[in-house]
Amino acid sequence: MKTLIASAAALAAVFSGPAAGQHAAYEVKAREVYARVISFRTAAGQKQTPAMVAYLVEVLKAGGVPDADIATLDEEGERALIVRLPGREQGRPILFSAHMDVVDARREEWERSPFDLIEENGNFYGRGTIDNKAGVVALVSTILRFKAEKMQPARELVFGFVGDEESGMDTTRQIAAHPWVKNAEFAINTDAGGGFLDETSGKPLIYLVQGAEKTFATFDIIVTNPGGHSSRPRSDNAIYRLAHALEKVEAYRFPVMATELTRSYLGAVGEAQSGPVGEALRKFAVDPNDAEAADTLANSPEFVGTTRTTCVATMLDAGHAENALPQTAKAAVNCRIFPGVAVEVVRDELVAAIADPEVEVAVRGKPEASPVSEMRPDVMAAITRAVHADYPGVMVVPYLESGGTDGKVYRAAGIPTFASSGLFTKPSEMFAHGLNERLPVTAFYRGLHHIHRLAVELGEAR
Ligand SMILES: [Zn+2]
Repeated sequence: MKTLIASAAALAAVFSGPAAGQHAAYEVKAREVYARVISFRTAAGQKQTPAMVAYLVEVLKAGGVPDADIATLDEEGERALIVRLPGREQGRPILFSAHMDVVDARREEWERSPFDLIEENGNFYGRGTIDNKAGVVALVSTILRFKAEKMQPARELVFGFVGDEESGMDTTRQIAAHPWVKNAEFAINTDAGGGFLDETSGKPLIYLVQGAEKTFATFDIIVTNPGGHSSRPRSDNAIYRLAHALEKVEAYRFPVMATELTRSYLGAVGEAQSGPVGEALRKFAVDPNDAEAADTLANSPEFVGTTRTTCVATMLDAGHAENALPQTAKAAVNCRIFPGVAVEVVRDELVAAIADPEVEVAVRGKPEASPVSEMRPDVMAAITRAVHADYPGVMVVPYLESGGTDGKVYRAAGIPTFASSGLFTKPSEMFAHGLNERLPVTAFYRGLHHIHRLAVELGEAR
């Protein structure tokens, strides 16, 4: 019921929108779907992805997709959806991916209701507007246009809608292993990659295509001690010992690393940037062994992650009473590991840097390492053409992601993945996961065009 009320409000927002008359029919439909999917609170634990999948299936069927080309997958209450557009010819399929789930949002903390799509000041506001429901809508809209315009790809296009990207990616693994998907030649992920607009002029600056992701790994740094009464301090103390270990972690610099992909990215960004950081970027792109350039970039939060593995303390937990000597002291150290480096190697480096046999370093869970997807000329050309259709002349370059997306699951499963959302925003407009998430209205519609163009060109549709 809650959903119905939210949907009604969202639908009202659709019809109060100013520019509906100027849009093509498929754009009007896409906006309607956008409003509905924002109204599902698809955060972990809310159990809303099955309802969202049911809605999407209804829309796709009404648009002419037969039952035989729709598959739903269940994974512990979360649901995923796969849709295919069969090809005219044989050949390996191409996967397009988006995730339906969102990071949760609390109404009382937001300026507007997070689960109603609200159009205001040239923006769409709502949880998931940028991450990643605009991508979900771009996939749905592309499928509907193919059906409405009676277009068929030469080879099969498969569309994966992930149910738990933000909370485990188990449905991503299921999608990657599905018979329609597992043989895919490559994937286009809508959940990353995109363009930046100049903060003041709004001029497009650069467009980034994600071709690799760092491994996300957390290490527990643990010190144990017999403890005792605080009135009788021992010479060794778990908290002090942990503090010393953390100082070593803080001071440690992992070795500089570079790939074709990171060099071309840093070089391109350097071309567009003045000052010492711009100079360091250009020098590093030419010669990653330039220690001075690497040092400059090590002090730049924006670029350090593209030049080496980084680890940083994120949580602390120690002691059990204010008048007792601590028996355990524990810290979480989160690392973003450069592609191609094993988690064990990073653990060994941390152990060596701490250099204290009393300090234990343990890997938390099973981190997922993924390889670099080296840029394919055909994919880069198609993405560049699609970007230039709306943003002529803007530079298109690959980059290494420090965050984490479904791409790492697909890459680990052997499907090279390129993330390209088609969305351009100003750096200050990046509110994914945060409060008052929003997407410029223009970016939403251009994002639809972007994914449709890629599907037509890469799928050789006619
Ligand atoms: Zn996302």
